[in-house]
Amino acid sequence: MKNVVILGSTGSIGTSALKVVDDLPDRLRVVGLAAGSNVGLLREQARRYRPRLACLRDPAAAAELEATPGLPCEVCSGEEGLVRLATMPEADIVLLAIVGTGGLRPALAAIRAGKDLALASKEVLVMAGSIVMREARAHGVRILAVDSEHSAIFQCLDGRPIESVRKLWLTASGGPFRDPQRWPKHRFAEIRLEDALQHPSWVMGRKITIDSATLFNKGLEMIEARWLFDIPIDRVEVLIHPQSVVHSMVEFVDGSWLAQLSTPDMCLPIQYALTYPERVPSGRVQTDFVKLGALTFEAPDRERFPALDLARQAGRIGGTLPAVLNAANEVAVAAFVQGRLSFAEIPERVRRAMEAHRVIEEPTLEQILEADAWARRVTLEI
Ligand code: NDP
Repeated sequence: MKNVVILGSTGSIGTSALKVVDDLPDRLRVVGLAAGSNVGLLREQARRYRPRLACLRDPAAAAELEATPGLPCEVCSGEEGLVRLATMPEADIVLLAIVGTGGLRPALAAIRAGKDLALASKEVLVMAGSIVMREARAHGVRILAVDSEHSAIFQCLDGRPIESVRKLWLTASGGPFRDPQRWPKHRFAEIRLEDALQHPSWVMGRKITIDSATLFNKGLEMIEARWLFDIPIDRVEVLIHPQSVVHSMVEFVDGSWLAQLSTPDMCLPIQYALTYPERVPSGRVQTDFVKLGALTFEAPDRERFPALDLARQAGRIGGTLPAVLNAANEVAVAAFVQGRLSFAEIPERVRRAMEAHRVIEEPTLEQILEADAWARRVTLEI
């Protein structure tokens, strides 16, 4: 039996993780649940899964949860609350599925407490990959990818050394604006929020869905792969694959390729991370290749989607620049959601913040957090 803490339990990844717990009652037990402010759903989850601790980031929401008659768990709040969950003595693994940068401190706390980390929040590695991976090595803990692409690569590598790899190939659906006839670049300024939220293959949280439409999600994943697999970013490539069945591929030095395939369902990579190193039976995901028929691939359109080159540049230069890319993108996406910025402007804002930034080469955690705060301010001012 593995004891699991889920940070971000009310979100898209968090609720899928609870489905995996439902599927594997003899293997997984929930000991801690945390969210931002969604009292209603966290209360329901606490009643059903009976963790020892529940946390809401927002103290007022936490107080409301705590006032629930007969709640079967203790309640805590704020960042200290998240850290408390991440370091619970009985926890074997912490699933980090908080959107944005709020997961960084709890992630480091979990690692330092010797907990394996199932990592969905890619922002953590984008911002502070060098520090997070160094701490993980120092404390002998595993960072298990939950992102389907990185889970695929992890499964294909299966312990082979990175020297045996020529390139890692991240697949991308291409998002709702893949078709250049329907969505030529000059129409990007007209894109509405409803258009950007129509993801062709995955149902996900709002931020990552918009990132999938700009391809910033794939850019962040390139940087994530660079750290997870300790490979230079120039050996991480992107391939558009609209069916989202091949989740990613490894090209080995002898010219051989391995890929991991299934119909898209996040329960699969979540289960693999939570039950690793075992591969346990599940009937949830079925893949029928006869029905699927054809799988197709194309090169990404780097002109219409400048996010890929911006991310590659941030990954190459490193230091505080990836944190700036990530924060500027978060601010620009929030402005787009509020109708204050056009879709076409999102990568432009990120580019301008990156250009204005003076990079610190080997930053401390504090310097990374300062760069993050600086980028948020500057992107708003731009
Ligand atoms: P959602 O927006 O659906 O959920 C976010 C979760 O985080 C919610 O539980 C939310 O709580 C909680 N939360 C937000 N801010 C805080 C905070 N400051 N402190 C504590 N909890 C917080 O996001 P997703 O599930 O889509 O994504 C989560 C992470 O996983 C992201 O980093 C994303 O990039 C990554 N990811 C997602 C995939 C997907 O398929 N969705 C695939 C691969 C990676 P509340 O409900 O109370 O606001």
